Amino acid sequence: MKPAPFAYHRPNTINDLVALVASCENAKLIAGGQSLVPMLNMRYVIPDHVIDLNRIESLNFIRENNGAIEIGAMTRQCEIEHDQLIARRAPILQDALRHVGHLQTRSRGTIGGSLCHLDPAAELPGIAALYDATLHIAGPRGTREVNIADWSLGYMTPALEPDEVLTHITFPLWKEPHGHAFLEIARRLGDFAIVGVGCLLALDRNGAIARAAISLVGVSTAPVRLSDTEAALIGQKPTESTFKAAAEHARTIECLEDAQISASYRQRLAGVLVARALKLASARAEITK
Ligand code: FAD
Repeated sequence: MKPAPFAYHRPNTINDLVALVASCENAKLIAGGQSLVPMLNMRYVIPDHVIDLNRIESLNFIRENNGAIEIGAMTRQCEIEHDQLIARRAPILQDALRHVGHLQTRSRGTIGGSLCHLDPAAELPGIAALYDATLHIAGPRGTREVNIADWSLGYMTPALEPDEVLTHITFPLWKEPHGHAFLEIARRLGDFAIVGVGCLLALDRNGAIARAAISLVGVSTAPVRLSDTEAALIGQKPTESTFKAAAEHARTIECLEDAQISASYRQRLAGVLVARALKLASARAEITK
């Protein structure tokens, strides 16, 4: 099928973009088009206006600022995957990106598109949850910030008004040396995850766990942080029995069910992946200590 007819707009600046979204009724923004174009073609969405973000250069950047990594919404997934600053400061983003679709989709798909599309199994929202990221929004009423914990309003529904645009995302960096791991199980490489787990782990001088963050994708409509499991890990030695106890916690979370995958299978995968991710992250934390 082909999309229904729409008016096409291609602004060059954020100001022009904001003026356009304010004046166009029933508009859709297009970033990399990897999710939107199939939805247009299938006529799942029938906008009267499509506003293309690809000419707005100020939405494309990766920089470190004030202890955080800031990434512009229009930064391509492949740029993040190969960026040297990300490799040094937040390599888990690159580990996660290798599971996002394929080389071809990552070369067009953007970080902002992924966060706004908000597929329950998408890896990048999971990494944003892991870092307690902040999303920066612009619109006719000015700018505002949304914490990732408040970003999902439900299934594939970000906390974004129809006339608002995601401009960039801030990932606060951990000050302490730490290890990281991102693991997922999908039917085939490049498919959306059945379950994916991201983990950051810092050890103290005695080798006990000083700080932990664990986030899961694919289990619910939004990424899930295992706050109770994280709290229970503090002060523990990173041993097999500690990882097993964390896996037991993870196995109790409420999980989605669909025609192919039962909730109980997702729970089992969550447990297995949490234990594996903690083990890998702690081995890496040991090196950085
Ligand atoms: P688009 O498709 O252009 O837009 C998606 C939605 O976000 C639209 O509603 C659009 O209006 C909105 N939007 C985009 N940018 C903004 C903005 N700055 N402000 C406000 N709204 C905005 N994704 C995964 O996470 N994991 C996978 O394993 C995966 N596998 C894939 C496999 C295939 C074969 C394909 C085609 C896609 C796959 N994807 C996967 C999706 C891919 O990552 C997309 O890049 C992503 O979902 C959307 O990014 P995009 O830049 O293409 O956005």
